Amino acid sequence: MPFKATILSLYPDMFPGPLGHSLSGRALARALWALETVQIRDFATDKHRSVDDTPAGGGAGMVLRADILAMAVDAAAPAGDPRPRLLMSPRGRPFTQERAHELASGPGAIIVCGRFEGVDQRVIDSRELEEVSVGDYILSGGEVAAITMLDAIIRLIPGVMGNIESADTESFETGLLEHPHYTRPAAFENMPIPDVLTSGNHQKIHEWRMAEAERLTRERRPDLWESYMADEDDVD
Ligand code: SAH
Repeated sequence: MPFKATILSLYPDMFPGPLGHSLSGRALARALWALETVQIRDFATDKHRSVDDTPAGGGAGMVLRADILAMAVDAAAPAGDPRPRLLMSPRGRPFTQERAHELASGPGAIIVCGRFEGVDQRVIDSRELEEVSVGDYILSGGEVAAITMLDAIIRLIPGVMGNIESADTESFETGLLEHPHYTRPAAFENMPIPDVLTSGNHQKIHEWRMAEAERLTRERRPDLWESYMADEDDVD
């Protein structure tokens, strides 16, 4: 069974969206992963098909109702479904490349996309939804977050990426940001390609790329640099 994503959303038409193109789109066509969408509104019970209500305790906005979302989750993920149940949420644990690998090697994921102010806490607790964040900013809904997360996962599914080697040196895979890239033309607006890259000396090229990766990480991401240095110390 390939990786299967089941998306619960009020906007299922947003899928596959960008995931239907390029690498992930070809992989979807080749059945290297599968996509299922569930319209949360289909589980509404009143004649207006409403799914949200005002927050208990007052305040702005609306909250996705626990009973309706719980029915949608139960239908999408019957007992015994081994896939993790994720809720896209800015309060969640930050999504990382490491988690992308973990999920890519598993059976798939059930992904709940929030809207409005979020979802009733009781459905998070009772259905054991794991909150996952794609960054410290607020999106208007979980769909774009889910697409972001899935894009990162899908390219790691075996067979999806042709050149597996290009994955290994990528930013975050080594604990460092990746080195800069150059291609033709040899001179662009008076800026040449660094000599070392056209020297044919593979050892020197490797050293230059490593030094650049370290410089960029040190300058831009002191947090990554610190844990990279700590790991290096462990190796010594
Ligand atoms: N009131 C909430 C934000 C709601 S945003 C709060 O302050 O925490 C509406 C929905 O968008 C959320 O339920 C979630 O599903 C999605 N969302 C917004 N930002 C996100 C992020 N950074 N990562 C993942 N999902 C996000």
